[in-house]
Amino acid sequence: MVQNSRSPSILRKKLLRLADGLRERFGVPSRPRRANILDALVQTLLSQSTTDHNRNLAFNELKKQFPDWDAAAAATQGALARAVSSAGLGNQKAARIRSFLHWLRDEHGELSLEFLNEKSDTQAVELLTRHKGIGIKTAYVTLMWASDRDLFAVDVHIHRISGRFGLIGAKTTPEKAHSELGPFVPKGRAFELHVNMLAFGRTICKARSPKCRECDFRRMCPHYRELNRKNSNQVPEPKRTRDKLRQAPKN
Ligand code: SF4
Repeated sequence: MVQNSRSPSILRKKLLRLADGLRERFGVPSRPRRANILDALVQTLLSQSTTDHNRNLAFNELKKQFPDWDAAAAATQGALARAVSSAGLGNQKAARIRSFLHWLRDEHGELSLEFLNEKSDTQAVELLTRHKGIGIKTAYVTLMWASDRDLFAVDVHIHRISGRFGLIGAKTTPEKAHSELGPFVPKGRAFELHVNMLAFGRTICKARSPKCRECDFRRMCPHYRELNRKNSNQVPEPKRTRDKLRQAPKN
């Protein structure tokens, strides 16, 4: 990862440039309608290490077998694991869902998260992350998709791009990146920037072999500058040395 030089004004400028450039390339994504927050949370838990398609298959099967969350909470972990198996890591995901449902019922008396609509962003994130199985990223993704909150969720693609682009430090964790980037994202554009950075990370600024030559941001990108510097340091052997080597007798 690249050393970054971040001041609030540079961060703001770079994030705005990124948001505008990505809008030109990918457009403005339409926001889904407000969703049930507990449904969105379970979908987020099912998303780990799988495709959207398999996540949806698992969620639909879960809803088919357990028409309400009380029925799911009453089920055994094995039954839940079978229902969500198409998303992979069935046992692990079933355990997390079951543990959250039980915790929610104990804490709030009912299996619903709609009361979060009355809370501020900070309060809603704090309430969700009180459960030890829910991290900052899961809380942000859930609230960003389920409501019209202007929250910027940092996933693996966004964390990687932010590191390369010098928006966060080399040691900044994805969790910490939420508080480091969020305040500087252009107002009202967190969802748009999140979705477009995902598309950018999947198509251009890929984990392996980023397509820097196709990237509109390379002039502003410390990672690209660093690559160029390294390449220009690989000076070819001077001609005279090469000629001498060619003439050296072979044993
Ligand atoms: S120049 Fe390369 S590393 Fe930098 S943001 Fe673009 S694709 Fe990513």
